Amino acid sequence: MSSLPPLITELDHASLNRPEQALKYFFGYDSFRPGQQSIIEAVLQNQDALAIMPTGGGKSLCYQLPALLKPGLTIVISPLIALMQDQVEALQDNGIGATFLNSTVGGAEVRRRSQQILQGAIKLLYVAPERILTETFLDFLDQVAVQIGISTLAIDEAHCVSEWGHDFRPEYRQLQQLRQRYPTVPVLALTATATARVRQDIMQQLGLQQPLIHIASFNRPNLYYEVRPKPKQAYRELIRLMRQTSGAGIVYCLSRKKVDEITQRLQEAGIEALPYHAGLSDTVRKQNQTRFIRDDVRVMVATIAFGMGINKPDVRFVIHYDLPRNLEGYYQESGRAGRDGEPAQCILFFSFSDIRTIEYLIDQKVDPLTGEPLEAEQQIARQQLRQVIDYAEGIECRRTIQLGYFGERFAGNCGNCDNCLRPRSLQDWTIEAQKFLSCVARCKERYGMTYIIEVLRGSKEKRILSNRHDQLSTYGIGKDHTAEEWRTLGRSLLHQGLMDETADGYSVLKLNALSWEVLRKQRTVYISLPNRPTVVQSASTEAKANAEMLFDLLRKLRKQIADEQAVPPYVVFADSSLRLMAQLQPQTIDDFSQISGVGSHKLARYGPRFVETIRKFCQEQEKI
Ligand code: ADP
Ligand code: ZN
Repeated sequence: MSSLPPLITELDHASLNRPEQALKYFFGYDSFRPGQQSIIEAVLQNQDALAIMPTGGGKSLCYQLPALLKPGLTIVISPLIALMQDQVEALQDNGIGATFLNSTVGGAEVRRRSQQILQGAIKLLYVAPERILTETFLDFLDQVAVQIGISTLAIDEAHCVSEWGHDFRPEYRQLQQLRQRYPTVPVLALTATATARVRQDIMQQLGLQQPLIHIASFNRPNLYYEVRPKPKQAYRELIRLMRQTSGAGIVYCLSRKKVDEITQRLQEAGIEALPYHAGLSDTVRKQNQTRFIRDDVRVMVATIAFGMGINKPDVRFVIHYDLPRNLEGYYQESGRAGRDGEPAQCILFFSFSDIRTIEYLIDQKVDPLTGEPLEAEQQIARQQLRQVIDYAEGIECRRTIQLGYFGERFAGNCGNCDNCLRPRSLQDWTIEAQKFLSCVARCKERYGMTYIIEVLRGSKEKRILSNRHDQLSTYGIGKDHTAEEWRTLGRSLLHQGLMDETADGYSVLKLNALSWEVLRKQRTVYISLPNRPTVVQSASTEAKANAEMLFDLLRKLRKQIADEQAVPPYVVFADSSLRLMAQLQPQTIDDFSQISGVGSHKLARYGPRFVETIRKFCQEQEKI
């Protein structure tokens, strides 16, 4: 490591005191993302601040940049050990003095790192919350405070302090002791949690004083949202989808069994995939995760156990193979795509049988001691499920529905969701509804949906013939629609309350007062039929353009360099930087330094190899 340029610990250029200049010098970026500048300015002026930004919004920079501009040590509290290491690696790769202390670091190494800190060689220290309140650590901090000063206390994932959040950690509650111990050190709390209740809790629990509050929009314009009807044998559709796209992605499934099955199907189809769920050992999970993060394998098939603490910024697609349980979960999980701001796809597979699976799981929620159903919980879960169904079936802009769920108004017409790109209209299916309901009536309200549809479509199944239902006037009157279309209508009738279904496990269809209004022609029935799946444009199906070829070459070089250093490829350069290089094709170090993401340290460290590759490529192209 001795041949590397020295770590940057103090600012040697007076001109860098301006945040914009420091941004390019250290991180290679040309401009701030929304909110970053005002938060950074507050921290520089020692004001408390609360930063609420969606995943990928660029929260880390809000404390990393001030840490470099202020004297002393910035302490970052982070609950996720894996993430800590990633962040420190990324900082070190920018030549910034950063380190972490957590349970994975041994005694001798802790002493070595502590020494480095006291010598002023470190600007950012990442610590786990449980460590920070130990006697030894507090003594050490006192020493730091006296010798070099504590510049800022940054509390990442600050929602962990709230019982109302989804990830409450009791250790977080004690962090306010730090505030009391070092009252003049400003506190910066950061989170991606969207609810008002949790925000309030954070300010109170951490004792923030007149904080600057920045709440960013939760809209993520680079994410493309789509809901697709889930066919039988949906894995075939999944495989097709993966062949059409490139880059890394996550496939979420509801159960461990499904994860294993889908992983195997993908592997058999020649797609590099690995599983991740709570049934695997810690070692295997960690291994699979590392291989995914380092681009050794393209697809992670996972339950929702996977994701918290994964900050791989270049995930290009997140596919929900099964229905998510609630919209907040869907937003967070799908939001793991495209943290780098580059285009990424979020696709949800939607089927009515999945609804039934989740309904079944909800019915299973019972008190483990008494066996009584947990009615309050069940009710909440049902409501959440309804919201997911409304999202999936909705015909307005997907963003309007999602953001509305978080209390944010969005005008619609985003231009980057299926409903905006291929608007659907409601269709009048009153006549079909009458056929369906009268078939339910003629079968004496004693059968489920599948049976009714078979009668409508004139099935010759034995039980239909033996019940003599082939004699009914409704037998075979529905051959003009597919079974799937009839099912869509049937479920829609249930959702709209125009028909009932027994909850005794048999799901027998029943007519209600509204059904009779439909049958008596007093009511019109509208349904929205699912979109036809679209072919997503992708690099692999188009003729590869010149820039695309260079991009692939640069990706290979990046992977090689990353492997030499045992870090994930995105630590070397982000996808967006590689794309710019492929487009602009800089052939001198000077031109190369203009690329967004190329800071001073990376320029010295990687510039020559990248420029050489680009130059060679351009020469080859000229020969052709
Ligand atoms: P968050 O913690 O809010 O999810 P990160 O801090 O991980 O987001 O940032 C997401 C990505 O955006 C990272 O790859 C980061 O380097 C990049 N980024 C942050 N700020 C900027 C900026 N001003 N310009 C360009 N890229 C940025
Ligand atoms: Zn839209």
